[in-house]
Amino acid sequence: MNDTSFRTHLPPQGNPPETLWEIMTEARSQDAPWQAGRVFSLVFWAGDDVAAVAHEAYSRFFAENALNPSAFPSLRRFETEVISMTAHLLADDDAVVGNMTSGGTESILMAMKTARDWARAQWPRRTPPEVVLPATAHPAFAKAAHYFGLTLVPIPVQEDFRADVAAMAAAISPRTVMLVASAPSYPQGVVDPVAEIAALAQTHGLLCHVDACVGGMMLPFIARLGYPVPPFDFRVPGVTSLSVDLHKYGYAAKGASVILYRHAALRRQQMFASTDWSGGIYASPTMTGTRPGGAIAAAWAVMNYLGEAGYLRLARTVMETTQQLQAGVTAIPGLQILGKPTMSVFAIASPRLDMYEVGDEMTLRGWHLDRQQAPPSLHLTIHAGHAPVVPAFLADIADAAAAAGRLRPRRLMWHLGQRGAAGLLRLLPPALASRLTEKAGALLASGGDLPQRSAPLYGMMGALPHRQDVEALVLDLLDGFTRPPRGKGAGKR
Ligand SMILES: *Cc1c(COP(=O)(O)O)cnc(C)c1O
Repeated sequence: MNDTSFRTHLPPQGNPPETLWEIMTEARSQDAPWQAGRVFSLVFWAGDDVAAVAHEAYSRFFAENALNPSAFPSLRRFETEVISMTAHLLADDDAVVGNMTSGGTESILMAMKTARDWARAQWPRRTPPEVVLPATAHPAFAKAAHYFGLTLVPIPVQEDFRADVAAMAAAISPRTVMLVASAPSYPQGVVDPVAEIAALAQTHGLLCHVDACVGGMMLPFIARLGYPVPPFDFRVPGVTSLSVDLHKYGYAAKGASVILYRHAALRRQQMFASTDWSGGIYASPTMTGTRPGGAIAAAWAVMNYLGEAGYLRLARTVMETTQQLQAGVTAIPGLQILGKPTMSVFAIASPRLDMYEVGDEMTLRGWHLDRQQAPPSLHLTIHAGHAPVVPAFLADIADAAAAAGRLRPRRLMWHLGQRGAAGLLRLLPPALASRLTEKAGALLASGGDLPQRSAPLYGMMGALPHRQDVEALVLDLLDGFTRPPRGKGAGKR
């Protein structure tokens, strides 16, 4: 078997496992090197011991399916305990109920679907139902609105990147059913004024969802360590639902999140049952049918392995690492931290440097940082695996900032050209601008991999006059992601 060739058909004969391991090892050689602490998103590392516990628990329940809780009382027990342990971190109230889901997105989809159906029952005239949320809220809310027929009313945030409560109040209409707050938001890591938003919701008799996907398993512990944490959970009157991911700072295996509701009557609107199918009575609380037993077992095992003491120890390391990184970055001329991040998620920006150039310089030095827009910034989510790399990171980002600040004639020309192009695109009729975008999309798709330097890409996207053009370009890319590369591997067996 040629390791680099692309397979499009099932092989006629099976392969020995060693062959597969060889191909898989080769295939991942270009993957982001998170093990070295060089990746600042997607992975949450808590130590080899924690990973081993998750791994072992997952393997033990590898085959089991949590679709039918009566077949596997073990999984039912683990899931119930996971939900209860999570709820009691975030509520004093035993009335809080919830379910495990596959991740933050599914938890938010469920909260939105529940809000829609609660509204249908309580306020049938509020159609389409509207959800008022800070513009920094996670795209999962937009996805849910897209799937379930709700209308989102995104409200620009304040200068400190926290939700603007007065503007949210002004946006409440006769169709509003729910307000949203993030604890914290993903882009800048700041906790919205949850108490004020929940009070506003209460005044208007509305639902209030708190997105604590990234913060729910971190904020309770850093609060106990003495870091300032504004109230954000069910202890705040008026909060009616809350999402919290276990596969982030809960350090569980991927595929583990919890959606919680203040009371069971609200949660009832989440559930689904079909009673007339010839296959029998089918009932399911969340989006998915078959659910992996491994994800539930691993979450249960990790929570019981770490306990409060383990989470506190990890939270301390993560916060100390975060503070060292933030202090170091702030000391570098031209760089700053956006807002006042509450925990270990934050963004680096600059009033004068092109942050996409800084990001490209960091990529060239072997670091993986997500790019953000409005304002342009680099995003970091810190885990314990970053503790040893602080000095190396700070040295490299200082170099990267210096490199991005140097006037390079070729790059300057490019930027001038791009500004010109932006102006030109604005003058073009939309159809012509779209054609240009199509060409840009084809160019990127044929390249296969995203280029090492993405600053031009982001610059180009920012320069496109129509948001639909950017969306079309992104969807074209997505469409291409799971297609075999053209001309390669045809008929390969
Ligand atoms: C990660 C995250 C989500 C989405 O969670 P997934 O597990 O990626 O689906 C939602 N909201 C916030 C604030 C997040 O950080």
